[in-house]
Amino acid sequence: MSQKILVTGGAGYIGSHTVLQLLLGGYETVVIDNLDNSSDIAIHRVRELAGPNAQNLSFRKGDLRDKPALEELFASEKFDAVIHFAGLKAVGESVQKPLSYYDNNLIGTIILFKVMAAHGCKKLVFSSSATVYGWPEKVPCTEDFPIGATNPYGRTKLFIEEICRDMYQSDSEWKIILLRYFNPVGAHPSGHIGEDPRGIPNNLMPFAQQVAVGRLPALTVFGTDYNTVDGTGVRDYIHIVDLADGHIAALSKLENPSIGCEVYNLGTGNGTSVFQMVAAFEKASGKEIPLIKSGRRAGDCETVYASTDKAERELNWKAKYGIDEMCEDQWNWASKNPYGYESQESTT
Ligand code: NAD
Ligand code: UDP
Repeated sequence: MSQKILVTGGAGYIGSHTVLQLLLGGYETVVIDNLDNSSDIAIHRVRELAGPNAQNLSFRKGDLRDKPALEELFASEKFDAVIHFAGLKAVGESVQKPLSYYDNNLIGTIILFKVMAAHGCKKLVFSSSATVYGWPEKVPCTEDFPIGATNPYGRTKLFIEEICRDMYQSDSEWKIILLRYFNPVGAHPSGHIGEDPRGIPNNLMPFAQQVAVGRLPALTVFGTDYNTVDGTGVRDYIHIVDLADGHIAALSKLENPSIGCEVYNLGTGNGTSVFQMVAAFEKASGKEIPLIKSGRRAGDCETVYASTDKAERELNWKAKYGIDEMCEDQWNWASKNPYGYESQESTT
């Protein structure tokens, strides 16, 4: 019998790609999302891409902080595991509105965990972030590095990781995998689903994409004086489909009787500078990206990339795609959907 997975935040960027991989992998999938930062058109597109497996997807519009609704959901369906993506994720906004971030990310998560426990569903995959490594003393980052946070968004990731470790300490029936994502980019190769941020993008690739399609005039490069190959910041960009597949690997790992609360990096192990990434995207798109060289962005670090050894060894998972594929798929999505999902009527 196929497993039934609840995916919180499954209409979002990472969630929608993961839901598709789940459906293609034969899982039954229920999505709960309040659509605060996403569109139900993403769900509709996922259904189209899943073909006959689309019948295994159901969608509930709802907020994790609505405990009665969550109780009702868990009472009506039995889930084998939960993949928990739902949360607010903009670092700058979290500095402006810390209480909104603590309310949404922490309260929503605590309510989810309480309802899961009450219904005997104790298998969890949680979206953590490389942000917990801060400015690491050395690279690559291994999972045993000290962790911390420099802004409210990062603190919600740090706190939820600690909450998970405490839950497992108190009740060894929990099986939890904390996935620390590096920098997810790109889109599904079909170009039908991708990242569609609201407002002006904060992240490098969504910003570069909007310059390429003519929505924004130029990309500001934050810092050209870092001690890196060309002075710009270095990150570990990972194709969104590889990242999504990492969740399938994590679900399989949850079947292992000896798993407790474990953390894994999801990255490629390769560092790429801003200039290198822009050059790859210019090549993929055939568009010139005008650049404005500017000072460092507050809170940014110089070089962050993952050690992938633990995930390769224990999850049997390794990223397959490189920078060129990431940029080609990003451009395929961008050129087909220059204004994201917005220009379409909702059909879900
Ligand atoms: P996203 O904003 O596209 O998706 C998050 C989804 O959660 C959205 O659809 C939003 O509507 C929904 N949501 C938010 N709060 C909710 C609530 N209280 N109840 C129900 N639904 C709610 O973001 P994403 O890029 O897909 O990120 C998914 C997760 O991965 C987030 O937890 C994020 O912090 C984490 N993460 C993302 C990145 C990245 O670069 N994208 C990196 C590291 C970690
Ligand atoms: N960056 C940039 N201009 C932008 C957005 C990002 O130069 O408009 C740089 C940023 O300084 C960092 C890299 O691109 O070196 C990746 O930034 P992003 O915000 O995408 O990810 P994060 O900093 O969270 O790893």
